[in-house]
Order: sequence, then C-alpha cells, then structure tokens
Amino acid sequence: MQAPIMDGVRIKRGQGEVVRLPRGASLTDFADKIDAMPADLVKVLIGLGEMVTATQSIDDDTLRLLGGELNYAVEVVSPEDEDRELLESYNLEFGEDEGEDADLEIRPPVVTVMGHVDHGKTKLLDAIRSTNVVSDEAGGITQHIGAYQVATMTSEGVERKITFIDTPGHEAFTAMRARGAQVTDISILVVAADDGVKPQTIEALNHAQAAGVPIVVAVNKVDKEGADPMKVRGQLTEYGLVAEEFGGETMFVDVSAKQGTGIESLLEAVLLTADAALDLRANPHQDAQGVAIEAHLDRGRGPVATVLVQRGTLRAGDSIVAGDAFGRVRAMLDDEGNPVEVALPSMPVQVLGLTSVPGAGDSFMVVAEDRVARQIAQTRQARERNALLAKNRVKRSLEDFLESLEKGEVAELTLIIKGDVSGSVEALEDALLKIDMGDEVSLRVIHRGVGAINKNDVTLASASKAVIIGFNVRPEGKVAELAAEEGVDVRFYSVIYNAIEEVEAALRGMLKPIYEEVQLGTAEVREVFKSSKFGTIAGCLVQSGEMRRNGKARLIRDGAVVADNLSIAGLRRFKDDVTEVREGFECGVNLGNYQDVKVDDVIETFELREKPRKP
Ligand code: GDP
Repeated sequence: MQAPIMDGVRIKRGQGEVVRLPRGASLTDFADKIDAMPADLVKVLIGLGEMVTATQSIDDDTLRLLGGELNYAVEVVSPEDEDRELLESYNLEFGEDEGEDADLEIRPPVVTVMGHVDHGKTKLLDAIRSTNVVSDEAGGITQHIGAYQVATMTSEGVERKITFIDTPGHEAFTAMRARGAQVTDISILVVAADDGVKPQTIEALNHAQAAGVPIVVAVNKVDKEGADPMKVRGQLTEYGLVAEEFGGETMFVDVSAKQGTGIESLLEAVLLTADAALDLRANPHQDAQGVAIEAHLDRGRGPVATVLVQRGTLRAGDSIVAGDAFGRVRAMLDDEGNPVEVALPSMPVQVLGLTSVPGAGDSFMVVAEDRVARQIAQTRQARERNALLAKNRVKRSLEDFLESLEKGEVAELTLIIKGDVSGSVEALEDALLKIDMGDEVSLRVIHRGVGAINKNDVTLASASKAVIIGFNVRPEGKVAELAAEEGVDVRFYSVIYNAIEEVEAALRGMLKPIYEEVQLGTAEVREVFKSSKFGTIAGCLVQSGEMRRNGKARLIRDGAVVADNLSIAGLRRFKDDVTEVREGFECGVNLGNYQDVKVDDVIETFELREKPRKP
C-alpha cells in the first residue's frame, strides 16, 4: 500500500514496526530497512524542517522523529548494545568471568589515588612504589607505564599485592570514566593535613561515591608544621566519610609521602577495606580480558599499550582486540621493564604488537584468531567514524540553515588532532569541543590519532581546509614541507592550555567583526560658497575633535540627520589642501557630490572601529 506522505513522495507507512538503527545511522541506512528511497526520506525530513543529506549521519532524536512521522518505532541501538551484539556474533562476551564460583581466585585490588592538586598524589604514588617489598635491589629502572603493582607484607606476615593506577594528570582516568570503564576497586583520597578538605577533594569523593568505590583516606603531609590530621577527619564527616575511630566505616591513615611514613599502614588499610567491602576474585583460567590504561606510539617499537588484565591470563602470542586496535601480543613488559610471559588478573603490562594505538579506557580481549580480532576492530572503526560524524553534525533547522546561508555561511573551524598518547588527544579534544562561541562559529574535529603528523593527515587537512594540531608530536620526514606546499596550517603544542587558548582565539577571529562608530569631530557651517571647480564648499569652524580628509561624515540640520554616508572629499585651509583641521580652526569642506549644505548645518565626522569581542 503506497500512500502519499507528502507531494511527490511515496513511502510505505509502517504499522508501528520496530526499526533498529545503530547510533549515527544515515537516511540511506534507514531507507534500506523500510524499503524506501533515501531521497524520499530526505524530502520528508525537509518537510519536518531538517536539512540532511542521504548519507549523512543522523542524531537519535531526528531518527526517532522521522520514524514517528512514518509510523515506525525507531530503536536506536546504543554503541554498547551494538558492541555486545557484535561480540555475540563471534560467540564472545566481555565483562563476565567464565565458569563457576569455584573457578574464581583472589586477585589484588586495583587502586586509584585522587585528591586536590598539590596534596601529594604524585609523591604518594612514588613513595608507595619505593616501599615495594619485592622490588629487589635499589636503582632498578622503574618505568612509568600507567600502572604498577607492589607487594606488601601484612601485619599477619602474608605477602599480598596491590595494583596502582599511576597516571599523571589524571587524563586517562577521566577518559576511562567517560567510557564507562570501571577499573578501580578502591580509591585513596589524599588530603593534605595542613590544607584540609578542598573543592577537588569533594569532587574526587563524589566521583568515587557515585561509582560505588570504597574510599581509604590518606591524610598526607603530617610532617608539616600546622598539620591537623584530626581536622581533616572532622571535615570529611560532613561528607559521609566517618573515620573508624569515630565509629564510622572509613579508614583514615596519617602519612607523609615526603618522609615515607605511614605507607605500610596505608597499604594495609587498602587491603582491609578490600577484604571487608569487596569480593575481589577473577577466573585466571580463561582468555584474558581487561582495559587499556594508556597507549602511545613508540618510534622503535610501534604501538605500545599498557593493559590491565581483569580476568583470565594474557600470554605472549595471544590475538587481541583492544577498542578498534588489534594485533598479536609480540612481547609483554612489566612495570619495571622486564619481559614477562604471562599476566594474571589485576596485573598491568605493556603490550607490544598491536597494529594501531587503542584509546585509554578501551576494553581489550583475547580472541581465538587474528582474523576475528581484525574484523571486530574494523567494525568498531567504522562505527566510531559514523558516531563521530553524527556527533559533529551541526543540527540546524531549515530556517536556521537558510538564515545562515543568507548571512553568508556559518563559519566553522575544522581540526585534526594528533598527540603522543591517546589520553592527551582525548583530553584535548574534549576541552576544545567545550569551547563555546555561540551559534556563529563552530568547531569540528574530523580526525584524531596518536603518533607523528603524517602525509595522510596533511592530505586530509588540505582537502577539508582543516588545521592540524600536534600535541607533543612533530611531523614525519618531509611532511612539514608538504604541509607548507599545500598551505596547511600545522601548530605544535606541549601544553594543553596553550592549545585551547589559541584555538579559542582562532574561533574568535572567525567571528565577523563588530564595528562601532567613533565620533571624530564636529564642525559648524558658517558660510556656503559655490565654486565652479569644486562645487559646493562649506566654510566651517571645527568645534570639536577634527575634520579629516576622506573621513566619513554626515550632515545634521536642526538636530536631525539630513544626509548620511557622506565623505569629506576635499579639505582646505585658506588656499591649501590639508589632511586634517583641528578644533578651533576654520576650514573649507567639500562633501563631494553632495551640494545641499546650508549655514548652521553641522558636519559630523566619524570612523568605524572594530570592536573587540568580549572574551
Ligand atoms: P599532586 O599535585 O597531588 O600530585 O601533589 P605532588 O605530589 O606533586 O605534591 C605537591 C607538593 O607537596 C610537592 O612539592 C611535594 O614535594 C609536597 N609534598 C607531598 N607530600 C608531602 C609530605 O608528605 N610532606 C611534605 N612536607 N610535603 C609533601
């Protein structure tokens, strides 16, 4: 049954059937599902006031709107569901331990250190690392791979391990949270005893509580004069963290990261809290699964990813897929740079052998064959692209669209972001996309990645008039020359803040200038002469400011503007042509073709000055 939906469009209306579409689907995808012509769907959407092309990615609301119009129940499949279905199609599942309860074995807790800036998070992580009881001789090269494991001796004389996520700047942590990757079992909240609870202390606390992660409080800097560890306990009570010694459930440990005191007790408190509040077990006898914590491109070794095994055992030679990257584990290194053959649950290792760089927070899993890893990665890459397109589409109604066309196109700054580690690329992108310049200009990131700026980046930038942002990376070989030839703007930064500032300035520069009028002077007409050579000449007395040749002018008579858009075509003092005449002097003014000047008129001169936009 073909019923006209609107003039010239014939689409079969649905009867409330469910149409499942992936997030970021296009009208072509939609048309496929309901056996219609994409062009017809484009027309229907125009009728609904939305301008989109057939192949453009559409946001969820628009998909549902269109579905509603055609009487289909559109179900937008979330990326998570889609991914689950993708894995299911290979008989895989992420996130659950295989087997029975009896297959589960105790695993070390995974700990994140959070707190206000300068309260000693970094120092504490260093102090903890150096207390490692199994860390053999001093001087062993410690590597910052994004996480490390320490062994500690409990007061019962049992050696137990704890894994620490050790990410400077917390960029990866933020990225991981944004992706919903929950790797942290316990949070250590660092509060400096001489400074007390601060805004970021509360922020960190809220994040941990929202994620349901138990907290151990490290009251740091107790060595300092003015340290008041009791005050910290009191302050945190207000936020629901009541110290054990006051009948609460939270363990507070006084430490000095600087002097290395209290560290053992802190580690023990972590273990006690884990034992009391959590059931930390995993099945080590299955294919490994976990999360990529940090990844970068290494000049010599290629993509290097630090992964945290959450269940199973990871082995050299395994085929893995991590986010949209895949490969075979060529070698594994522990946090001291030693090669390891196997990695058990809660163990962080650096993995070599991936073909590209995964994102911080991406899940990874071992699959049976290279082929499966590649296919899953490629499907994810395609989905990622679509989602990005959908996210970046400027949603505009037809009216807005036409209006902006009339005004002369909405200005858009297109960027390509390359960086040294995925955490910083993501952090930078997030920060840049948050710059709000209102509706007049927008920012779009068309590509981003980890590694040097290469030929492809420049070609893409040239084709889409994009600017390349390099964060802690340089162009490969001859790429800088190519960029210069193609006229591609490449900018390098090593501080995120600087990049943000410059991009913001660029966006501001794209705003159309706002001009304001600045009055330059006024002159009263005292006499009017007619000259055969120059036409009408007004003999004036400059009353304020100055008259300037070629300046803009208007003529005022009895307080009303009688002529605007004039210009001072000629300016004379006595017989001489001059460029300006100041207040208090007489002059002859010629207003070009404009002849209707009378005695007592006022000539007002002004200029248009570009007004700086309010930052
Ligand atoms: P973060 O910003 O939380 O990572 O803080 P840092 O670890 O960088 O420490 C900030 C400052 O506090 C540094 O100058 C440290 O040396 C100092 N600091 C950290 N822990 C202690 C401590 O226990 N005692 C004293 N006196 N200073 C500390």
